[in-house]
Amino acid sequence: MQTIERFESAVRSYCRDWPTVFTSARGCTLVDDDGRQYLDFFAGAGALNYGHNHPDLIEPLVEHLRRGGIVHGLDMATGPKIEFLERLDARVLTPRGLEYKVQFPGPTGTNAVEAALKLARKVTGRDRVIGFTNAFHGMTLGSLAVTGNSMKRRGAGVPLGNVDSMPFEGFLGDDHDTIEFLEAFLVGDASGIDLPAAVILETTQAEGGINPASDDWVRRLADVCRRHDIVMIIDDIQVGCGRTGPFFSFERAGIDPDIVCLSKSLSGSGLPMAVTLLKPHLDVWEPGEHNGTFRGNNAAFVTATAALERFWSDDELSDDVVRKGDRIDAYLGDLATEHDGLFAEARGRGMIRGIEARVPEAAAAIAAAAFERGLIVETAGPNDEVLKLLPPLVVSDAELDRGFGILSESVEAVLDRLGDDLVAAEEAEEVAR
Ligand SMILES: *Cc1c(COP(=O)(O)O)cnc(C)c1O
Repeated sequence: MQTIERFESAVRSYCRDWPTVFTSARGCTLVDDDGRQYLDFFAGAGALNYGHNHPDLIEPLVEHLRRGGIVHGLDMATGPKIEFLERLDARVLTPRGLEYKVQFPGPTGTNAVEAALKLARKVTGRDRVIGFTNAFHGMTLGSLAVTGNSMKRRGAGVPLGNVDSMPFEGFLGDDHDTIEFLEAFLVGDASGIDLPAAVILETTQAEGGINPASDDWVRRLADVCRRHDIVMIIDDIQVGCGRTGPFFSFERAGIDPDIVCLSKSLSGSGLPMAVTLLKPHLDVWEPGEHNGTFRGNNAAFVTATAALERFWSDDELSDDVVRKGDRIDAYLGDLATEHDGLFAEARGRGMIRGIEARVPEAAAAIAAAAFERGLIVETAGPNDEVLKLLPPLVVSDAELDRGFGILSESVEAVLDRLGDDLVAAEEAEEVAR
């Protein structure tokens, strides 16, 4: 840790939250250099839906490397790329009646978003894009412009332009229909908002505090996009690849988005990989107009293909995610009821779940107490007020129970320690209201 503190930039963050040196991992367990085990309810921020080092994904990779398979391939044609494209079509797209061209935009999520934004602007000839309050789309300038968080936005150092932020479902309170609000701006001759190239949406906002949009809201947004000829981009980087149950988070709403961004758990192994899926008529790129050195991470293609084959040949994983998600929901719901002075509400979908603390510091304190007890959980939301549960989708019921136990203990410990402060803070808040 001294080396990290001495040499690594102050921008580092997770190693501050979990101050130990990790040495190995398997499934839902991380091990540190003292041999201490940690139950991982963070899953690489959603990059490890199938757990750490799943043998069915790692074995084909080891085999690929051992026989001298291609590792770096730019966008050259390679065996692993062809196999990935064929498997994506056979296991994911065709069974869902979805037709997309696949763009390899570079290895990270924000690369997939930048490609989507650029293409929507090119196709429509318009320059503005609508993003939503509390959205998170990545750290490069285009993605950051459609991200809500003001601390992250300030980091840009330049104006983040050509975007309009609109209220996500519920942002203005339950009495306001935010789709009506949005459409009023699109049709008004004097709204001051130009017709955008695209709308970009997370169907369940992850970093923004675990906010699931209702299926009806998502469908009505898709309808607005269709009627006004606006490209609809779904950012499924964190909540795709089965996180909410189905492979794509938008399947339950029955929409057919124009562009879909995938990354995080796409490779299945934690290796960097991303795709931007485009409706064929939108594929107006010139060859090489958008490129990048690391678009052909063949090691990631190998594990991605293995993951599609292993987990998406049937509905077993999807069904299991819904079932285990309901268990997490029930647990968090009980926790919120039991400690309603501490928690405002539990929310989420599938296996992305959160519980909002009334006093933001409490969420971080509980996460820290959980770490001391061997559980890795993070916080989300504009003030880090939401404790976020994101276990690997393959977590066992016994592991879930163990995690719940540690979390309950951590809540009690924080209540003991902060109890009086929390009550005081809440009273201060009451008075302010
Ligand atoms: C993580 C994330 C991104 C950015 O991905 P990076 O790989 O960190 O660039 C974009 N959108 C969503 C919804 C994410 O969760």
